[in-house]
Amino acid sequence: MRTVQYPIDFNVSDMTDLYTVFGNPIAHSKSPLIHAEFARQTGQRMVYTTTLAPLEHFADAVRAFQAEGGRGANVTVPFKEQAYALASARSERAEAAGAVNTLNFAAGEIYGDNTDGIGLVHDLTENQGFALAGKRILLLGAGGAARGVILPLLKRQPADLFIANRTASKALDLAGRFGCRGGGFDGLADRPFDLVINATAASLAGDLPPLPEGIYAPGALAYDMMYGRETPFMAAARARGARVADGLGMLVEQAAEAFFVWRGVRPETAPVIALLRSQ
Ligand code: NDP
Repeated sequence: MRTVQYPIDFNVSDMTDLYTVFGNPIAHSKSPLIHAEFARQTGQRMVYTTTLAPLEHFADAVRAFQAEGGRGANVTVPFKEQAYALASARSERAEAAGAVNTLNFAAGEIYGDNTDGIGLVHDLTENQGFALAGKRILLLGAGGAARGVILPLLKRQPADLFIANRTASKALDLAGRFGCRGGGFDGLADRPFDLVINATAASLAGDLPPLPEGIYAPGALAYDMMYGRETPFMAAARARGARVADGLGMLVEQAAEAFFVWRGVRPETAPVIALLRSQ
């Protein structure tokens, strides 16, 4: 595994396909490890690095990587919206998200996709054993992460998808765009949900969204998109009797979908999730 900083230099064999993840900061990224495991498992000849893109020069960094023979890339904070703007063609799920986390440079164009939402759906349905059809879902947050998961969740035909956000107007706006319901946190009291997804950035700051009593139906799953530590959201949900999951599985599943977009091969995610959990 190799870390490439901007400006980019490559000394890898011509036979090896190059991928990277653009972010700022990026040193913390687990994506190189995940994709190295996927490549080893499936016998794909590829190298996946990290690229610290300058805040003001994301597009230049992408074009430089493409010109040097890069085949595709992931994009993380704070560049997903810029990647959306840069893409010359986009998937339906990228259009719905208004953000791109996966770039594919096949056929000379910059194809933008968004695999975050399907990553969440795969983690819920395949790793957590949670079927979404007919379920009442509460989605907390109206930022980039929330926007990216709405269409893939709706495609699984839940009974209800309610979007709640600290700034209620943003939730109402998103709900209107996707034809579901939305509002602030205060209107949620005693409305039980089968699945509550925390897509706010509250956990990053160690905060708990102000959730009223009665939002967890018996047997409900509380899912925090953040990973790496028990968050106040997870602790509070556990105390209210909910089953709890973090976003590590989503991270690995979104990577698996990106790997499929690039290579046309689906890697096994369970051993990689287990590897990351063991670290
Ligand atoms: P954004 O900054 O785009 O969104 C911020 C959202 O969080 C807004 O809705 C904001 O509300 C809300 N918020 C922020 N602080 C608080 C608080 N203290 N209480 C309540 N609401 C709050 O962030 P992202 O959407 O990019 O990321 C959200 C989370 O999702 C992060 O924890 C990120 O790590 C995680 N994530 C995980 C992924 C994975 O693969 N597991 C993938 C992508 C994201 P308001 O509008 O009122 O400001």
